[in-house]
Amino acid sequence: MSIYSFLWGFMLTRWRCNLRVRIAIAGAGVSGFATLGYLVEAFKAMPSAGVLIYLLQPPREIHTENLSAPQRDRLIHLKNIGINLSQLFGGGHVYHPVQPSLFTFNGNSAARGFNFVAQRYDTSDYFEWVQANRRLLATLYPDFAPEKGQQRHRDHTLNDIQGTTPRGVYGLYLHAQFLALKAHLPEHIALQIIPEALQTFTQIEQKVTVKTNTQKLSVDYLVQATGHRFAALRSEWVGHVFNAYPCDRYGYNLPPQVTVVGAGPAGIEVALHALHNLNVAQVTLLSRRAQSRLPQVEPTESYECQWFTREKMRLQPTAKNAKALLQQELKVCYQACNLPYPGWDALLKIEDYSTFLENYLQTTNQSPNHPFAHLVRPVMSFYDQVKDLLPAVEQIGVLQLINQVKPLFATQSRPCAELMLAALQAKRLRLMAGEFLPEQVTPTILHLDGTQAHPDGIILATGFVPSIPPFYPQSSDTRCYSVMGTSLSSVHSRAANVASVITRLVRRQTLHVSFVISPDLQM
Ligand SMILES: Cc1cc2nc3c(=O)[nH]c(=O)nc-3n(C[C@H](O)[C@H](O)[C@H](O)COP(=O)(O)OP(=O)(O)OC[C@H]3O[C@@H](n4cnc5c(N)ncnc54)[C@H](O)[C@@H]3O)c2cc1C
Repeated sequence: MSIYSFLWGFMLTRWRCNLRVRIAIAGAGVSGFATLGYLVEAFKAMPSAGVLIYLLQPPREIHTENLSAPQRDRLIHLKNIGINLSQLFGGGHVYHPVQPSLFTFNGNSAARGFNFVAQRYDTSDYFEWVQANRRLLATLYPDFAPEKGQQRHRDHTLNDIQGTTPRGVYGLYLHAQFLALKAHLPEHIALQIIPEALQTFTQIEQKVTVKTNTQKLSVDYLVQATGHRFAALRSEWVGHVFNAYPCDRYGYNLPPQVTVVGAGPAGIEVALHALHNLNVAQVTLLSRRAQSRLPQVEPTESYECQWFTREKMRLQPTAKNAKALLQQELKVCYQACNLPYPGWDALLKIEDYSTFLENYLQTTNQSPNHPFAHLVRPVMSFYDQVKDLLPAVEQIGVLQLINQVKPLFATQSRPCAELMLAALQAKRLRLMAGEFLPEQVTPTILHLDGTQAHPDGIILATGFVPSIPPFYPQSSDTRCYSVMGTSLSSVHSRAANVASVITRLVRRQTLHVSFVISPDLQM
């Protein structure tokens, strides 16, 4: 070996120690965990950079007095086997195991495994983990049978609930994946957990200062993954109005009649939690059109749209045409499924939701090849597929059309839909049209006919607002990024993108460092 190649090798070894990168990730829900996983994956291939990752996640305070007996038993069991529920990583609010077992995924296909150690991101990793941990899960969720992939609530009477796992099980899986990732970090990557919330951050040139209540960190990159937050509740409403999540903020203090505002998947599961676990006698589920969500159904046959397509929209890019094409497609699809077409008006104005839901459950039990199941993806992705063809005013029209038909195509989990039907038929649940008036000091519901009501107990399941308003420098010089999403797939792709942007910048920096020979190495 020549003296030059020896020196080159020696210098490379020294240069590898030259670059230090500090990254802060605020929030250890799915977004923060996925970002961490993709960063670790990318930096593994870059041993020339010494990486320190701070993960900021405040401990979760659990109000045990508001938990049902099965929730409390689960908590105790987990504590006994060394799992601290106030400091879990990976699942965030949405997949926290303290939640009741009837908080499930929307459908089997919704669950994706995030196994960064095995480098797997697919639909089977999680279910394999469930099978491997079935004894533990059977103890934690006595109302859930992992071997059948079913979830069943202890108190209800339906015999066969087709469903998927409780979301809390997924939270335990994510925590296990987080621990595995941490245990397999290569030497040049260090992880430091900071059990505090991000309070503020500023970027000056290429340094970001991150502040918590007690610490000030200087980092090269910040990823904000602080997830969802709920609308602020007025102090006058204390004890009367609650947010849907975290669900341990309310419990046996609820009155016998409760109004849940919002009839999406969150509203439905929270209404069922109140009815089944919290001794609430009757729930009114309030939404603008007194309609709810149908369960997700996976068709076994394929169906290709003939009418409701980008090509047909290209010929006439208007909202009116979109509506005509959807009407035509529905008609054709009902025919292909050998089902009588009820007509556009009947589908949009459902007078008796309970009967409508019952028919849907029965029909899809016989065959999952239902027009709504075939058309759910084309409809829900239609706006994104065609928006570039449309002028602004037509874009709004198409959005309005999709919103109008959304109750038919936005789905929830089948176990919840079945429990919901049982509760509607038992008259313990009723759907009403109306809205909550957030600016009123006295909690107020405005009904469609203009009358007002002031229920004693209200749970708001009306959606989320981002945790901290993003105020990132809007330039290519930004070192602050945000990762969030409303599905596991969207979180996954956003986290992968942000990790790849950061590693690209660091790689550029490593190349730069390689050409600047440090003074002590100069000959
Ligand atoms: C009811 C419900 C059901 C859902 N069902 C499905 C489904 O079936 N399938 C699917 O794909 N998706 C589903 N989703 C979407 C789901 O929200 C996302 O997949 C995902 O949970 C979002 O994760 P996140 O990490 O961005 O947010 P979060 O889960 O909210 O996590 C954010 C984390 O940041 C922490 N945090 C907050 N503020 C700070 C701070 N200042 N500093 C540090 N940390 C902070 C929080 O404590 C939390 O741990 C569902 C969502 C909801 C609400």
